[in-house]
Amino acid sequence: MSERRSKLNTAVYPGSFDPVTNGHLDIVERAAPLFDRLVVAVGVNPKKPTAFPLPERLEMLREATSHLENVHIESFDGLLVEYASSIGANVIIRGLRAVSDFEYEMQQVLMNKQLCPGIETIFLITSSQYSFLSSSIVKEVSSFGGDVKDLVPPPVEARLRRWSRRQG
Ligand code: ADP
Repeated sequence: MSERRSKLNTAVYPGSFDPVTNGHLDIVERAAPLFDRLVVAVGVNPKKPTAFPLPERLEMLREATSHLENVHIESFDGLLVEYASSIGANVIIRGLRAVSDFEYEMQQVLMNKQLCPGIETIFLITSSQYSFLSSSIVKEVSSFGGDVKDLVPPPVEARLRRWSRRQG
């Protein structure tokens, strides 16, 4: 048992987090106790436009996870498996909401396995109350003046409101 535990010491939970939602936070809160260290890693993809610049996405994640001692917020660019190896992570965490997530995720897992056989991907199934929740839907609702306070952590709500006003 102790041997198995020692092999699961660092996990990385990658994503765009544009912005972090309560669905992401639920995954972070459930994954954190399973590992010694959980690194939430914001992927930098210059080809993918985002609503919030990287420093703001990192800040929102730091604020939302400040109560979790073993959770660290970082960013990475390039290949996820290379980043994971560079920080000594042997597990990638992903969340699954619906069958529609599955095809893409499976392709990623198989490619990552090909690139780096030593890293396992573990999926956590969404908690039912968040199964509909995504960063995109939260931005859409907010841009039409909808109330997102039950969908995102409090520091994100205020920033989303400012972002929506900037959208006109
Ligand atoms: P990406 O652009 O890599 O999909 P996201 O920030 O959209 O990044 O999501 C990061 C991870 O969080 C993904 O594994 C995604 O499936 C998961 N996720 C997003 N929203 C939820 C949710 N409501 N419940 C569970 N997992 C979620």
